Amino acid sequence: MTDAGSHAGRVALVTGAGRGIGRAIADAHAAAGAGVIYLDHDRALAEEAARVAMARGWRAVAVAADVADEASVAAAVRHGTETLGPVTLLVNNAGISPKSGSAGGKAFVWEMQAAEWRRVLDVNLTGAFLVTRAVVPQMREAGYGRIVSISSVAGRTYCDIVSVHYAATKAALIGFTKHLAGELGPSGITVNAVAPGRIDTPLMRGTAAEANEAVRLATPLQRLGTPDEVAGMCLFLTSDKAAFVTGQVCDVAGGWLMT
Ligand code: NAP
Repeated sequence: MTDAGSHAGRVALVTGAGRGIGRAIADAHAAAGAGVIYLDHDRALAEEAARVAMARGWRAVAVAADVADEASVAAAVRHGTETLGPVTLLVNNAGISPKSGSAGGKAFVWEMQAAEWRRVLDVNLTGAFLVTRAVVPQMREAGYGRIVSISSVAGRTYCDIVSVHYAATKAALIGFTKHLAGELGPSGITVNAVAPGRIDTPLMRGTAAEANEAVRLATPLQRLGTPDEVAGMCLFLTSDKAAFVTGQVCDVAGGWLMT
């Protein structure tokens, strides 16, 4: 079996596509032949990523939206869809991990501000809900869809380098994934999560160097991962090769977590 053409002619929406893991996921889908909606709340980053993609001959459009804002998500999906067509591939990647705490960026629960807790839930969890809800009608209409949400090893087990709001949202995305896999399977839509370990991106550079080094040493492959390695797993899950895979959490963590 080959998946040649698996992504060609389809439209993918990737959130947080301006940089880091999201940009690698968006680029991988565009290179595989999908039209890609590069969504980021930083308009300049999204536009630059889409501009580079189009210069490579790929189909792309940039949309600026805060995934936590319902109206902004609706407008972005409308614009992206009008430009490239109905979305059948979605990667919920946008996420934040504030480094406001006293322990090398990590905030302990006793020092965490409620406003920061709410913002992390709004972006990491409600954002995935709002974007998913906006595109699922298009997938149901097509009788085909692939949804992938970027969770984290921190949503599967205790990780002392992140804060509790972040871990709670990444665990919640796993419940979100399993429930939607059940609801949407009969419509021909698969729903999976990817749980990266430590990946070298701007988001993790706010973490103390010693903490990242401790993770590296605890990882059997003895290094941090790359955005392209996470993108490779996403590209598989959105392909026809993964047609019978749903409700799963796929680790891309160099063996840091083995269950
Ligand atoms: P990143 O380098 O910070 O990139 C995230 C992108 O999402 C940025 O362009 C960011 O824009 C954008 N974004 C943030 N809030 C948004 C919002 N409300 N609406 C739309 N876009 C928004 O992060 P990353 O390391 O690539 O992480 C991507 C995903 O992987 C996240 O969900 C993260 O939790 C997850 N993850 C990362 C690691 C890791 O080690 N890096 C490990 C496990 C899981 P701004 O820069 O303007 O905020």
